Amino acid sequence: MLSYRHSFHAGNFADILKHSVLVAVLEHFIKKDKPFDYIDSHSGAGLFDLSSEHAQKLGEYKEGIAKLQPEQWPELSAYLNAIAAFNDQGELRYYPGSPLLAMQYLRAKDNAWLYELHPNDVELLRNNIASCRYSKRAKVTCADGLKGLLAHLPPVSRRGLVLIDPSYEIKTEYEQVVAAIAQGYKKFATGIYALWYPVVDRQTINQLEQSLLATGIKDIQRFELGLAPDSAGRGMTSSGMIVINPPWGLFEHMQQVLPRLAATLKTNAEAVYRCEVLVGE
Ligand code: SAM
Repeated sequence: MLSYRHSFHAGNFADILKHSVLVAVLEHFIKKDKPFDYIDSHSGAGLFDLSSEHAQKLGEYKEGIAKLQPEQWPELSAYLNAIAAFNDQGELRYYPGSPLLAMQYLRAKDNAWLYELHPNDVELLRNNIASCRYSKRAKVTCADGLKGLLAHLPPVSRRGLVLIDPSYEIKTEYEQVVAAIAQGYKKFATGIYALWYPVVDRQTINQLEQSLLATGIKDIQRFELGLAPDSAGRGMTSSGMIVINPPWGLFEHMQQVLPRLAATLKTNAEAVYRCEVLVGE
């Protein structure tokens, strides 16, 4: 039984990291005319109303996206414009999740393969996708996205992004994501893979990193953004994105953006971020 609902967390500091990386990668794909495939293994509902009871309950977006005034963040203009497209001018009521951000970049020749297992969220996702331009190019499936993603690799386009963004409700998911990436990479070694993870317990993330390194996959970068330093028993203090085959320029972009984001979002004296090459090309 799935209990996680992203509607309680939409627009928080973890979404800022995840979605700013996602948008930077999507910007890379549309630089070329050639089609691409977007595969989202854990899509969520797609669009979140920040005035809803769920979003208001924890108010996480207030410590996240609400702190970023678009005019002060030219380096994040692509990401912030993508959010602005869902809102009336100057307002922040709706926050787009990963599939709807991706749909903004989708062209008539591209494909989106969207997986979501929660019965309520998959219906919300279907409705949200229906109102997108090129909705016919997107397929929503209610199934396990870690298994489902493999069916699309390698994509016919030979250009693709796989976003893996689980809720990690089940401890074994940390191993399952690495296994899915290893299997996917065997079928499509030139694809871009982006894996999100929460830092609740650093040891778990160190193990995840070790398992990934043990696959022998090359060209891996890691970006992390935190509200506070690692600490036992404080819940998620940071979150990270691991990117395999990152597009040219992503590292420099994140090097520029992360220190400022960390300084803006931090909840104590120390700004926390990481921007590292885990494995070279
Ligand atoms: N990627 C979304 C975004 O950025 O807006 C948020 C996704 S949320 C962190 C994780 C989602 O995965 C939840 O909606 C949950 O219901 C769904 N989920 C959990 N296990 C899944 C699985 N095995 N396959 C597909 N979806 C799953």
